[in-house]
Amino acid sequence: MRRIFEFRCTSCGCITERYIDEHIQNTECDECGDRASKIISAPRIELDGTDPVYVSAYDKWAKKREEATRVARERNEG
Ligand SMILES: [Zn+2]
Repeated sequence: MRRIFEFRCTSCGCITERYIDEHIQNTECDECGDRASKIISAPRIELDGTDPVYVSAYDKWAKKREEATRVARERNEG
C-alpha cells in the first residue's frame, strides 16, 4: 500500500517526502542524493475519524447542525 512517508537524510539531515510503498525503508535524499531512512510516524493525512483536524471539523459541523435544528424547532413552536 502506498502512502506518504518522510525520510531523513543520513548525511545532511533534511527531510524528503515520498509517496511510496510502505515496506520501503530507504530512499535518496532530494538535496544531496545520499541515503535517507524512513521516519516512523503516523501519516499526516488520515481520514479515519481519529485525526484531530478531521474530528474538530466534524464537531463543528455537528454543533452547527444541532443549532440549526434547534432554531428550526423554536420557529415551528412559536
Ligand atoms: Zn541529504
